[in-house]
Amino acid sequence: MTERFQLWIGGESSGATSGETFDSIDPSTGEVYAQVAKAGKDDAVRAAQAARTAFDEGPWPKMRGRERAQYLLKVAELVKQNAGRLAELETNDAGHTIRMSKGADIGMVISTFRVFAEIAVREEDEAPLTRSQGSMNYIRREPIGVCAAITPWNFPMQMAAWKIAPAIAAGNTVVVKPALLAPLTHLELGRLCVEAGLPAGVVNVIAGSGADAGEALVDSPLVDRVAFTGSTEVGRRIMQLASGNIKKCTLELGGKSAAIVLDDADLDYAVDGALWGIFFHAGQVCSAGTRLFVQRSIHEVFLAGLVKRADGIRVGSAAEPASDMGPVISKGQLETVERYVATGRDEGADVLAGGERAMVEGHDGGFYFQPTIFGGVDNSMRIAQEEIFGPVLAVIPFEDDEEAVRLANRSIYGLAGGVWSGDNARAVKVAERLRTGTVWINDWHMINPRYPFGGYKQSGLGREHGEVGFDEYREIKHIHLDLAGPNRARHPWWDLSVPKRSD
Ligand code: NAP
Ligand code: MG
Repeated sequence: MTERFQLWIGGESSGATSGETFDSIDPSTGEVYAQVAKAGKDDAVRAAQAARTAFDEGPWPKMRGRERAQYLLKVAELVKQNAGRLAELETNDAGHTIRMSKGADIGMVISTFRVFAEIAVREEDEAPLTRSQGSMNYIRREPIGVCAAITPWNFPMQMAAWKIAPAIAAGNTVVVKPALLAPLTHLELGRLCVEAGLPAGVVNVIAGSGADAGEALVDSPLVDRVAFTGSTEVGRRIMQLASGNIKKCTLELGGKSAAIVLDDADLDYAVDGALWGIFFHAGQVCSAGTRLFVQRSIHEVFLAGLVKRADGIRVGSAAEPASDMGPVISKGQLETVERYVATGRDEGADVLAGGERAMVEGHDGGFYFQPTIFGGVDNSMRIAQEEIFGPVLAVIPFEDDEEAVRLANRSIYGLAGGVWSGDNARAVKVAERLRTGTVWINDWHMINPRYPFGGYKQSGLGREHGEVGFDEYREIKHIHLDLAGPNRARHPWWDLSVPKRSD
């Protein structure tokens, strides 16, 4: 018997109004792993209404930051206590290797709730009063209201935390809609939020399709703000829908991030780093280092090292602790990756490693692809410009730092980038010229909830994480308090005591 998962609306678990369900597929096996209630438009409205009531009538937005922080810490504690189950769900539903879900995912979820708890506590130290021309003035930050969050399938549990933690820390209520391909850890987090004692309706989680439940949420007049992570194409649609009642939006979209290896880099370290940059989670990472620019003087030796080391990456079932790389999320995604590899060949690039589906013994139905490296790539090729979202790396040579920066910036995206170099001053110079929201020097994937994350150009709008990300969930109010009283002179441009010509 497969496990069944329900929606979380208004503090209670609930089936879909229509009674519909859908299957969650384990990408390692291609088999059904669980059954999930499928929210439709009605359920989206029901969840938005629960969040609206919790915001308009409930205690949450009126609570002090330090009080709200206690609930966030409680959620973090429950995630810790339930780490085994959450990790297992992420592995079986979203294809995260078990090492990754137990380590990276659980760690990031806990620290996201903790960091926003800290920030919520500090909220109360803000608002200094300032005196100005007979008045006292202060700036107050207030929650925005009901937040809708729509997330992708690649890092479900982390994405849920990235959306829920800042929203509720700032006093908002939230409705989260995960991707159909990987909803389970969202629903489990929804349950933990209820168990943590959050007032009913503060956190609602509905699994349903984007076209149906997703659009209904983003379009709803009950919703004040939308946070979306996903493709640039759907991001455009979200902006259009959000325009109905002028919702605030943050968008975290696609990427085609450039890793630049300068000729003074520690080559072994950079080879490992480049592989981790692209093949972590089979390349299904928005900020993956998908374009690798290598200085021409070291290009050949670097490429040889890269191909040799890529050969040692163990592709296997996500549940198997020895696997370095698991499956891609779905049959559809596997086919997309295959199509792009064919495109790369047609464009004249050379497959130096991989290039085919991977066979994993005992898991014939799984969606596995080999770690694939293209050489002979020109930055204008489709495989260097379009987001593939799979384990495919494009390696491109460059002459000098000037050319590396120019080529790296030649992209519609601007999410992340990186520089590998033994010279910090040189690396920083390059880093500062990259038109991206994050740059890693001699590292990759170092996303930290204390520091903002988001994209330039078509990689998005606004930032998540840190104080900046917290502020994206708050309105700003200026309060002016008159100190002069009734005896002061009126404003010269509005003084009824001045005789007028008709008097
Ligand atoms: P997607 O197709 O854009 O879907 C993302 C989410 O939007 C899913 O929940 C989806 O629901 C929903 N959706 C689809 N159409 C919608 C609509 N018309 N209205 C409202 N919601 C709608 O992206 P994906 O394929 O799941 O994820 C991969 C993409 O996400 C990549 O482009 C990647 O770069 C990006 N990403 C970006 C970041 C970042 O931080 N910048 C992080 C992770 C991923 P369904 O389940 O029904 O499709
Ligand atoms: Mg699944």
